[in-house]
Amino acid sequence: MNSDKLSERLTAVASYVETGAILADIGSDHAYLPCYLVRNKKISKAIAGEVVKGPFESAMKNVKKEGLENNIIVRLGNGLEVIEESDGVDTITIAGMGGPLIASILQEGNTKLDGVKRLITQPNIHASSIREWAVENGWTIIDEEILKEDSKIYEILVLERGQASYDELEMKFGPYLLNEKSPVFIEKWKRESDEWNRILDSLEKAGATEEIHQRKEQLRKKIELVGRVL
Ligand code: SAM
Repeated sequence: MNSDKLSERLTAVASYVETGAILADIGSDHAYLPCYLVRNKKISKAIAGEVVKGPFESAMKNVKKEGLENNIIVRLGNGLEVIEESDGVDTITIAGMGGPLIASILQEGNTKLDGVKRLITQPNIHASSIREWAVENGWTIIDEEILKEDSKIYEILVLERGQASYDELEMKFGPYLLNEKSPVFIEKWKRESDEWNRILDSLEKAGATEEIHQRKEQLRKKIELVGRVL
């Protein structure tokens, strides 16, 4: 993968960035996403944020190699702290991390969201953490996508400001994804459910401590939820 040939996953994330947006890509790694968006003339200004020195240096190297230093500023820092008010950022992408980490980055950086209109998140796991954060913080889901690439399944959640409330199933599975129930969605939740059933089977053979009992109850509840949607 590079900024010429972006992964299907990041191409899908890029498709939700509006033309002319001022973007902050948090956890940018090689900065492929902002480079791709600038090269394709969808945006002309982006901040690429990275908390780890190695990926930060890769991002710097790539931006330089592509001659995009006037368009993309690479900054080393934790989460949204790389965003400065004068940047005028209106769109944030956070992709390729767990949902709880994405939600904690948004929570910790809440004060940096003032001028931001759209958040595009791509959690690798536990997307529900982002839905919970959205409801608690005045954001609503305006679109969702699920896709499979190299046998891995990814979800994308697009948020804008607004009050939303989701029921238990929508929170867990995603309001748009649940409504669509695409073949990839069904495959994802069948996989998860099979795994939970496998763990449950092995716990049935384990001892009978209170901890094991609680774990089994949690698994049964999750399996029951999946059973209601598939
Ligand atoms: N966003 C790219 C993508 O989707 O292909 C890279 C994903 S990579 C798996 C996750 C990146 O997020 C890593 O480079 C990691 O260093 C960075 N990261 C993790 N926590 C971060 C944080 N709190 N602030 C900024 N970057 C972070």
